[in-house]
Amino acid sequence: MTDIHEHTGHQRSPIDKEALRRKYREERDKRSRPDGIAQYRRLTGDLLHDPYLPVQPREPRTDHVTFTFVGGGFAGLVTGARLKEAGVDDVRIIDKAGDFGGTWYWNRYPGAQCDTASFVYMPLLEETGHMPTEKYAHAPEILEHCQRIGKQYGLYDDALFHTEVTGLTWDDDAQVWVMTTDRGDEFTSQFVGLGTGPLHVAKLPDIPGIDSFRGHSFHTSRWDYAYTGGGPEGEPMRRLADKRVAIIGTGATAVQCIPHLARDAEELYVFQRTPSSVDVRGNVPTDPTWFASIAQPGWQQRWLENFTANTMGGFGAGGDDDDLIQDGWTDIARRVKAKVFERMSSGGEFSGDTLLDAFEDADFEKMEEIRARVDAVVEDPATAAALKSWYGQLCKRPCFHDEYLQAFNRPGATLVDTDGKGVERITERGVVAGGREYEVDCIVWATGFEVSTEFTSRAGFDLVGRGGVRLSEYWASGMRTLHGSHVLGFPNAFLVQLTQGSNHIANVPHNMSETGTTIAKIVGHAVAQGHATVEVSAEAEEAWIQRLLSGGTPLDGLGSGGRSLQIPGSLECTPGYYNNEGQAPTAAARYNFLGFPGGPLAFFQYIDRWRRSGEFEGVEFR
Ligand code: NDP
Repeated sequence: MTDIHEHTGHQRSPIDKEALRRKYREERDKRSRPDGIAQYRRLTGDLLHDPYLPVQPREPRTDHVTFTFVGGGFAGLVTGARLKEAGVDDVRIIDKAGDFGGTWYWNRYPGAQCDTASFVYMPLLEETGHMPTEKYAHAPEILEHCQRIGKQYGLYDDALFHTEVTGLTWDDDAQVWVMTTDRGDEFTSQFVGLGTGPLHVAKLPDIPGIDSFRGHSFHTSRWDYAYTGGGPEGEPMRRLADKRVAIIGTGATAVQCIPHLARDAEELYVFQRTPSSVDVRGNVPTDPTWFASIAQPGWQQRWLENFTANTMGGFGAGGDDDDLIQDGWTDIARRVKAKVFERMSSGGEFSGDTLLDAFEDADFEKMEEIRARVDAVVEDPATAAALKSWYGQLCKRPCFHDEYLQAFNRPGATLVDTDGKGVERITERGVVAGGREYEVDCIVWATGFEVSTEFTSRAGFDLVGRGGVRLSEYWASGMRTLHGSHVLGFPNAFLVQLTQGSNHIANVPHNMSETGTTIAKIVGHAVAQGHATVEVSAEAEEAWIQRLLSGGTPLDGLGSGGRSLQIPGSLECTPGYYNNEGQAPTAAARYNFLGFPGGPLAFFQYIDRWRRSGEFEGVEFR
């Protein structure tokens, strides 16, 4: 039996798969815990405060609008833009933030940038004529793009910011939704859209002493530049020059801001429970001449389709050989494809097992390279060993960065690895881990967002549909939709989210753009034809659920034929929000993880045909 650590050198010996599987399982077991998502709590008090914009006074609204969208991030912006194009002028967007941007409004931490290539990540590039300045644009440019969309489509005209919905009730007599908010609004809307985002409720670990810290603290989604100095463009945070800073968490957010903290803080302690896998980023500025050559009519749709086809999301629908993006996401799929061809050219037949074997082999190789990169970059061997991730690359959100690992070579930066246990407690003076107290001036919580809690709990309100039935009641035995958007008993309401639809994790805004286009088509038709209501039929909703179930659920080990594989969502993986924090879901929660059998590309092809047919199959207009 070979030592698995031997594989990280340049002269790699064949991978000992059994040893790796065992190591992965050991590391997962260290992190498994019975409380799952209940280990966390939400931000309260000052931690929730919007540090970016003051709340503007305004009069409550008591009018009627055609379409109200809850959420001013990409979901609301793309849906609003498509509605305007479809001739629905009367669109009101509501957001708890002080401007458009959604996740990009809140996440202004230093170093924030998109992890999916800008050309496919940023929606409506062709329509707005914007050229992303980098292959992976930084947060200020993305926020500005959100504002650009808002301005170009007149979405600011009736937007209500710093406003939270408190009630959303269907009035069956008037056939309108009645909306109330925390700003005293009470108005009606014929249609409503909900794009409250998968990652908008920030969380903290509910550990002893968390309220006792006497220093300064904030969550990464409420970055306190007044305390740190500097700004979202990455300017030096000079006020940290004499500060000892702790950052808790090493997920995708921490990976992006740690290089900045390591550069600017006098001392930085990085508290790690599970290392992220950090692959090569390879960011480059956009060459305007090259951009002009690709930006021909229809280019962004072609790029979107091409990217989906070249990620794992393209597998179920045939993929595409011409990879325009060429990055870490498409590399995963390219390697799996190569392994499939290898097996088939040596006489194997294509089957589900061939694909799974190929996936596992490619993943082992990729992760060995990612671990070898840690050794190549990080000078201290103990720190390097602790930064290696022992799980399948898609078990957790893959990260890509070219300065993160390097940050640990700075003299002031210390990795405090907790061997899967996490920080124990917070004291008045600092953070306790491994039995030692680390005294610090500031704690930065990079501990992420709620994902697997109930939709209505995260949204902060429950829809009350036909006959007074609440959405939470209707979904008590599991989420039910058509296309992830329409719910029986909730006429004229549309959800914009990933589950039960495309589930394309490599490019989240793409899911929203497609759904926004579909909604605009339906609502445009209803308004043009004078229909009062649009609602999914009971048969169509049931048929859709059965269709989704026919693909199995990821937590059952989707398509794994009962094999224990490190595939996305699997309970074999180390705990995280991709797999319900490693806990078998309740029978009801199982429905929250359903995606279209065949994957995202197959779904996008399906929904395009559905829209083009003009028949709106499964949806009834009255
Ligand atoms: P994550 O949920 O990914 O990370 C939270 C981190 O906090 C994890 O490292 C977690 O460890 C750690 N943690 C939780 N509790 C404790 C504890 N008690 N002690 C020590 N550590 C603890 O949140 P992020 O904000 O990093 O990212 C959330 C998502 O946002 C990403 O997955 C991605 O989808 C998105 N994102 C996208 C970006 C982009 O596209 N550019 C950039 C940043 C984020 P453990 O892993 O053990 O649970």
